[in-house]
Amino acid sequence: MRRILISGGSRGIGRACVEAFAACGDQVAFIYRSRDEEAARVAAATGALAIKADISDPNEARRAVAAAETALGGTVEVLVNNAGVAHSGLLQDMTDAEWRQVCDTNLSVAFYLCRAVISGMVAAHSGRIVNVGSMWGKTGASCEVAYSATKAGLRGMTMALAKELGPSGITVNCVEPGFIDTDMTAEFDDEVRAVVCEDTPMGRLGTPADVAAAVSFLSSDAAGFITGQIIGVDGGLAV
Ligand code: NAP
Repeated sequence: MRRILISGGSRGIGRACVEAFAACGDQVAFIYRSRDEEAARVAAATGALAIKADISDPNEARRAVAAAETALGGTVEVLVNNAGVAHSGLLQDMTDAEWRQVCDTNLSVAFYLCRAVISGMVAAHSGRIVNVGSMWGKTGASCEVAYSATKAGLRGMTMALAKELGPSGITVNCVEPGFIDTDMTAEFDDEVRAVVCEDTPMGRLGTPADVAAAVSFLSSDAAGFITGQIIGVDGGLAV
């Protein structure tokens, strides 16, 4: 039974990760920002602990990790950096506040949470960190410049931190989802969905469980010699 912390566990991919770890008998805490009802439903269904915090604020992130470690009864053994926000629009129309929100939520949050859990992992000489990036971090998306930049940043962070923490027995990897059927992609109409399916070699959108399966594997003992890797979970779309 491991102690797991997942950011953005109240919905979508994060929720599927909470369900997957809880089904394995792990002790799970997850962080969410605002949607109390969704979070309560996930907690009730899985037995996981829900922690409300806007972790784009470093002090809130620190508080959330401390609350998780108190409730889990020890330091975090597996961290899944999943929380993220999308932003669509021309770069020239983006405000400073919008840019900061995307960067703070998608990239800085991973830094805040990693920083808070690393000392416990180093002391234990083991640990797993899995970042949830995006295929846009690899290919870039028009009208999603900030989002693409933050997800590319997670790639660099993954590789650099893997080198830094490997000697301490900690692995750091990144999964890059393609189009996954969650609230983040709910705005796509049937026409857009049909085009995505046509362009995706596997012929469908991904499910949150598809991504959670990769996260679970990278967090498992079986993946103990895999680190610094970026794994696409995109049905072949970004190949
Ligand atoms: P989602 O359904 O929109 O859920 C986002 C989750 O993150 C929610 O639990 C939300 O909490 C939480 N969150 C957002 N900002 C937060 C903050 N500042 N502090 C704390 N929690 C925060 O997203 P998703 O589609 O599952 O995506 C999850 C991850 O996968 C993201 O990093 C996203 O970029 C990435 N991804 C998704 C897709 C896709 O097609 N869906 C594709 C590629 C990559 P509340 O519920 O309280 O708001």
